[in-house]
Amino acid sequence: MKSLDDYIPVVGGEVVGKIYQRAHRLVKKHIVHINSTAHGGGVAEILNNLVLLMNDAGIDAGWRVLIGPSDFFTITKKFHNGLQGHNIRLTNNKKDNYLETNERFLKFTHLDHDCVIVHDPQPLSLIKFAKKVQPWIWRCHIDITNPNPELWEFMKTFILRYDMVIVSSENFKKKDLPLEQRVIPPSIDPLSAKNMELSHTVIKKHLEKFNVPTDKPLITQVSRFDPWKDPEGVLKVFEIVKEQVDCRLVYCYNMAPDDPEGITIYNQMRQKAAKYLASGDVVFVLGDNQILVNSLQRVSAVILQKSLREGFGLTVSEAQWKGTPVVASKVGGIPKQVLNNVTGFLVKPDDIEGCADKVITLLKDPNLSQEMGAKGKEFVRKNFLITRHLSDYLNLLNDVLNHY
Ligand code: UDP
Repeated sequence: MKSLDDYIPVVGGEVVGKIYQRAHRLVKKHIVHINSTAHGGGVAEILNNLVLLMNDAGIDAGWRVLIGPSDFFTITKKFHNGLQGHNIRLTNNKKDNYLETNERFLKFTHLDHDCVIVHDPQPLSLIKFAKKVQPWIWRCHIDITNPNPELWEFMKTFILRYDMVIVSSENFKKKDLPLEQRVIPPSIDPLSAKNMELSHTVIKKHLEKFNVPTDKPLITQVSRFDPWKDPEGVLKVFEIVKEQVDCRLVYCYNMAPDDPEGITIYNQMRQKAAKYLASGDVVFVLGDNQILVNSLQRVSAVILQKSLREGFGLTVSEAQWKGTPVVASKVGGIPKQVLNNVTGFLVKPDDIEGCADKVITLLKDPNLSQEMGAKGKEFVRKNFLITRHLSDYLNLLNDVLNHY
């Protein structure tokens, strides 16, 4: 099991020392994170790494996953989409189902912790049913700049009961929330199986095992099949690129239990890409194996993140950490993650031609790719590693627990 000391060679002793100092007053404090899935998606990825390190710093940090029936997750995915701007028919039925699942889960989840941290909209309304004897923090990972107004008003009735909100980027702060809002950018763990260094042998073995051909340059998007990740746009970009450079497109995807849309969009995309699937130029790879994802992010010539909305794309930082340049949409939290023209390229989310153009530039200029890759790695080291994230949390917990 890795510990904080293992990060010293990556980030230096000063950073780790400061973490221990910040953790002193929090030792034995009992904290709990609550979200809605143990695997699939960025929140589970973060908690899998962060909760362990919090414990290593001396905090008694726990993690609970909301249990609910499948129709609850169909509704909460609609809420997720509505909060990112889609239309939603907010019926009483949906509200009742949402509230009932939260109330039920709270009945058998005894929250006598010193602080409760609730992630995203699915468990947001737990607070309505809790005997609140400690600070509660809502950690919002999604882009809430332009939510559906009716849904936002409904969600606000719960958010207003919290002591603080954490968002991923300054532009997600909401003017109509009369409570403290802080920005904490998410992070990646450089020592996890997803991001650790890999030998050529391990990479080769994994790509062979999962049938990923490497005879042509690979353009890869690593994402759930979600409308916000624009898998159709990815295919359109690939079609333009392919006319100029012979390459392959890899959809590296996984499914998350709290995202029931995944399987439908996966099937749609297989149909849309049928011609290229048959020729082997488009490959769908199930990315449930961390070392496979790590390998793909390393061998790909370009990592795409063609999102239409994005709170913060972990995949963007993961790719840059591996020295792979990215072409990503200028939306949500992504512009903070990529230095445009330095560590990769940012393009407007609807600019298919422009996106293809940047991919072609990188495919044709390996020196530029390498240069951007090296700068990307340093940029992530300074800003988006888990040690920084942990430090931000310790600061916040010190403040919150001192003032409650
Ligand atoms: N991921 C994975 N396998 C896949 C697709 C995604 O392990 O096939 C991981 C990806 O590496 C990242 C997380 O899932 O760590 C997705 O986080 P991100 O913030 O990019 O998007 P989200 O799914 O949270 O919207």
